[in-house]
Amino acid sequence: MLVDHLAEVENRLVLACQRAGRKREEVLLLAVTKVFPADIILEAHALGLRDFGENYVQEFEGKHPLVSHLPDSRFHLIGHLQSNKARKAAELFSHIHTIDSPKLARRLDEAAITQKNVMIEVKLSHEEAKHGCAPEDLPPLIDAIAACPRLKLDGLMTMPPWDENPETARPYFQQLRALANRFNLPQLSMGMSNDLEAAIEEGSTIVRVGTALFGKRQKPQ
Ligand SMILES: *Cc1c(COP(=O)(O)O)cnc(C)c1O
Repeated sequence: MLVDHLAEVENRLVLACQRAGRKREEVLLLAVTKVFPADIILEAHALGLRDFGENYVQEFEGKHPLVSHLPDSRFHLIGHLQSNKARKAAELFSHIHTIDSPKLARRLDEAAITQKNVMIEVKLSHEEAKHGCAPEDLPPLIDAIAACPRLKLDGLMTMPPWDENPETARPYFQQLRALANRFNLPQLSMGMSNDLEAAIEEGSTIVRVGTALFGKRQKPQ
């Protein structure tokens, strides 16, 4: 039951914040609802969740009419965004975690009518398949976003290579935090179901949690 899973996740967040000497309010729980039907968003909203993460522009386009009325809700795009989908993404999402090129930033800015809160996805591992901006390319990307009047840069996001052991992710979280400090960016979108404790200990301000709330997904991510 979602209500029980939410209580478990909330308990983990509280304990991790206590261990890290942080306040629970410093960490946003972003409920990752990709692949699940719109009903799960309604159910989660009824339980008090307000921030929802989706990976696929097209999939969320189908759910959006069923959830866009929810009071105080915010929809975050956390999956890779292609420039040719920037217009659609600007319609559907207020928060975008996966800016990784100046071109994408400019496309999104051109398409946006209202302000968009954005984060830069940083590629910290050398896996071929991963998207994201290399750390050395951050300065020009930050400048490009600053030149976009409708984009507000909040911080950095990363997704470490998957590993059963949450400690494997910790060095990536530390690297992301160091980069955010260097560029004076307040938000860190890092940590998922399996490693949210390590992420909070390393300074995460947004944990993106799917499986621990909603159970296993049918399709691979
Ligand atoms: C699917 C996904 C998540 C959630 O992962 P869980 O392990 O199910 O909590 C978080 N972030 C991104 C970018 C994702 O694609």
